[in-house]
Formats: sequence, C-alpha cells, structure tokens
Amino acid sequence: MPSRELRAAAHTYNGLKVRHLINGELEDSPRRFSVIDPATEQPIADCPEATRDQLDRAVAGAVSAQRAWASIPVSERRLQIGRLAKVLLEHKDELARLITLEVGKPLTASLAEIQRAADSMLEITSVDIRTQVIRTDDRGVVELHFRPLGVIGAITPWNVPIALAAPKVASALYAGNSVVLKPSPNTPLATLRFGELVQDVLSPGLFNVLAGGNDCGQWMSEHPDIRKINFTGSVATGKRVMASAAGTLKRLTLELGGNDPAIVLEDAEVDKVAPKLFMGAFGLSGQVCMAIKRLYVHESIYERMVEAMTTLAQTVKVGDGFEDGVLLGPIQNKAQFAKVMALIEETKRLPNVRITTGGHALNRNGYFIAPTIVADILEGTRLVDEEPFGPILPILSFATEDEAIERANNSSFGLGGSVWTRDLRRGAQLAARLEAGFTWVNHHVGTTRDLPFGGVKESGLGRQGHAIGVQSDMEAQVVVVPPVSSQA
Ligand code: NAD
Repeated sequence: MPSRELRAAAHTYNGLKVRHLINGELEDSPRRFSVIDPATEQPIADCPEATRDQLDRAVAGAVSAQRAWASIPVSERRLQIGRLAKVLLEHKDELARLITLEVGKPLTASLAEIQRAADSMLEITSVDIRTQVIRTDDRGVVELHFRPLGVIGAITPWNVPIALAAPKVASALYAGNSVVLKPSPNTPLATLRFGELVQDVLSPGLFNVLAGGNDCGQWMSEHPDIRKINFTGSVATGKRVMASAAGTLKRLTLELGGNDPAIVLEDAEVDKVAPKLFMGAFGLSGQVCMAIKRLYVHESIYERMVEAMTTLAQTVKVGDGFEDGVLLGPIQNKAQFAKVMALIEETKRLPNVRITTGGHALNRNGYFIAPTIVADILEGTRLVDEEPFGPILPILSFATEDEAIERANNSSFGLGGSVWTRDLRRGAQLAARLEAGFTWVNHHVGTTRDLPFGGVKESGLGRQGHAIGVQSDMEAQVVVVPPVSSQA
C-alpha cells in the first residue's frame, strides 16, 4: 500500500474508542486523557483513565480466575497462550499501524515488533517448568516444585509497547498466574486494542488491561493482592516501584535503563562495522534500553570511525514512520524531546567537544531531532554518564583494551555491552569482562526470549525469558519425602 494511503488508514483511528479489559468486560472510565501522535503533535484518541475502583475490580477478577488456571496442565496453558500469539499475528497490520501512530517508529519496525511479540510468547512457553528431583538416595527423595505466585502486575514503557508486554504476559500466565497489565499513558492504544481483541480467548479475569497514569502504577505496586510487579521503565521509576512494593514484600522483576558501551578494537573493519554500530545506536531514534549509548573506538581508527558515523547520520532518512524508506522516526513525547534537546544544548557548551553533525531539531511539526554525533568527549559529562534515550551518540577514543573495559564498566548502569573485532576469541573474552547482563561480539541490540535478559547494577533486578525468567514468576518449594524404610 502506498505510504500516503497507509497514513490515511492510520488516521481512521482519529477519535478511536479504546476500552480497558477488566474481568472479561470492556469498560470505559469517567476520566480520559489525550494520546498524541509524535509525528504531528496532534491528538489521536481520548483514552480512558482507570480509577482505583476499576483497578481493584481487575485485581479481584484476577485473584479468582487464577485459582482454576493454576490447576490446569501446563500443556493446556501453553495452547491458550499460543492462541494469544495467534491473535497478535492475525491483527498484525492493525496493531502495527497503531504502534507507528502512537510511538512514531517506522511501520516496518512496528510490524517486526508484533512478530517479535508473538515469537516471544511461544519461546517462553517452550521453557521446562516441571518439578525437579534434587536428590534421591537412602535419605529419601527431595523434589523442587515451582508454584505460581497469584496475580502479577505488568507495567510497560512507551518505546516498545507490545513486544515488552507480550513476554511478561506469557511468562506470568505460563507459570500459572493471572495478569493485570498497564501500558504507559504515552502509548496505551495498541495494548488496549490487544486486550479488546483477546477478550474471549481466555477465561474472564485471567488477563486484564488497564490504561492509567503513574498513580495507577503506584496503586498496583502497593496493592495487597498483587504478588509481583514485572516492570520495564526508567531507573528512577524502578526505584519508586521497589519502595512502593516493600510494604507487601512483593516479588519484583525490574528491567530498567541502560548506558551500553560498545568497544571497537583496532582490527575492526570500519566500513563494515559502522552501519551496524549506527543502527545499534540510532535504531528507534536511540529510544532503546539496550542501544549503544557510548561508543569506545581504538585511537588508531578513531577519526575514520567518526567520519563514517557522521556520513551515516547525514544520509539516514528521518521522518514520519508511515513514509517509505524512513529509518528513524520522532522522539515519542514532548517531555523526552525537551530532555534530549537540553542535553544537546549542554553538550554544545562543553569546551573542545566536536558535534560533527546534527545538534538541532528538524524544522517541521513533530518531535524530530537530527541524528547527532559527538566526538572528543570524555566521561564526567552528562551525555556520557547518563542515558540520553534519543538520537545522539558520544564517540570516545581509547588506547588499550584494559583501559576500554575499565572505562566501560565505570558506570552505575549494566544492561548490555558489546565488543567489535575480527578475533572472535578475544572478543568473547572481553565481552565476558563487561559488567552487564547481556553482551555480544560484533552485534548489539536484540534478544530472543529463550535467553535470559536483564541488567546488573542499577539497570535492573532479575531476568525475563528462559527458565530463569519464568521461575521468577513462581515460588520455589522443596518437598522432602523420607525413604520407605523409615515409615512407622
Ligand atoms: P517510566 O519509568 O517513566 O515509565 C514506565 C512505566 O512506569 C509507565 O507505564 C508509567 O506510567 C509507570 N510509572 C510511572 N511512575 C510509576 C510509579 N510511581 N509506580 C509504578 N509505575 C509507575 O519510563 P518511560 O519513560 O516510559 O520509558 C523509558 C525508560 O524505560 C528508559 O529508561 C529505558 O531505558 C527503559 N526501558 C528499559 C527496558 C529494559 O528492558 N531494560 C526496555 C525498554 C525501556
């Protein structure tokens, strides 16, 4: 379909009515808030804002639905979660258009997001969560059981609404829990629409979706009948969730921000790796938790790398996500746009720092910023030490690999990291020395949910995906049975 028609099709959502899914029923709310299209700054929809009473009813429905769900075989749960994934794929085009409309990302990225979300649901349900035998000997048999927690609250950010929600939902349900999901108030539409589409797929109450503001997230974190919060968002909010959850000693998975380093060794081929590094840093306009946010390049190839990245930044197509060939869309919201622009202005004032391209907003409606490359910058500046979450990349020079590793690790973040070299053995050794939850050699960004993903230090707590992630949605229980001979 030509891009203009696509755009028009998307605008049929103007005035779209979306509702919460609460205990199997679609509900409106007395209060509403506007959702803004970041490419035009125009409102797209009025979204219902959940009340405290609506949250309480969703949780009560989830509590009663969970009991029956926990008692059905895992194979049946797997089938039903497979049906959720199927609905995602059947409505791929509609959901992808909604994501592009509310997040701003290119339509190809939104389509890929839906595919990834469906894949992740299936990957999670292939994890083995059967009872394990810890030992069996003359002292008897000791088994390790995994029991569901109850109701899990899932809270998501605005950058990847469906592909971040899907694995949380699949993992919680697969482990025998019920779910209350709350998307970001900046991007609630695709998630609410997903709730509407699956209204009749599961028993009422098992899966609830509520749109709400930050206060709704806090109510969830404090709620006595929610046993765990599975949260993705910023470090600052993650700390608030942890504090709110303390009163009920909730279990937590916190997927938080990152300030990922990528280290390029002297043997890397600049022309070959630069395009991959560029998309690792600028994909989704830098609004990716595990994007490259600090690029360390060996001094012998530093200037060539700065030049290559500058050329890529000048030639990449930035614009409306519905336009053909656009690779980078806008910043998702006005507050984040203002934050990134302030960081750019502050960086411009630093002595001896070179902004080789970008450094300004685009002269058009929407929250667009030109891809910005910053050279000759050092640690101790906000751009290097903090998470910008926008299309701006600092490139730093290093002399030895030990120095690069030390500087990369000198951060309160620890989400991802990568090493780029033609020597894979050396790359693997250095990648393992990075203080991060997920590291790559010659790659950056992207995971599948058969692998455990999560951060160390202030980038998070716990892992999602893999048996490690699913088991964190469960409680371990040891059952000790004495030998038959010990019976009275
Ligand atoms: P945010 O922390 O502002 O909001 C995330 C969610 O938390 C939203 O749904 C929001 O309504 C809710 N919330 C806000 N205050 C709350 C409170 N007091 N209690 C409970 N919930 C509350 O994050 P954002 O700006 O939407 O997203 C960007 C951040 O998310 C970046 O830091 C990015 O790195 C991070 N992120 C991390 C991952 C990961 O997997 N580690 C993935 C994507 C994004």
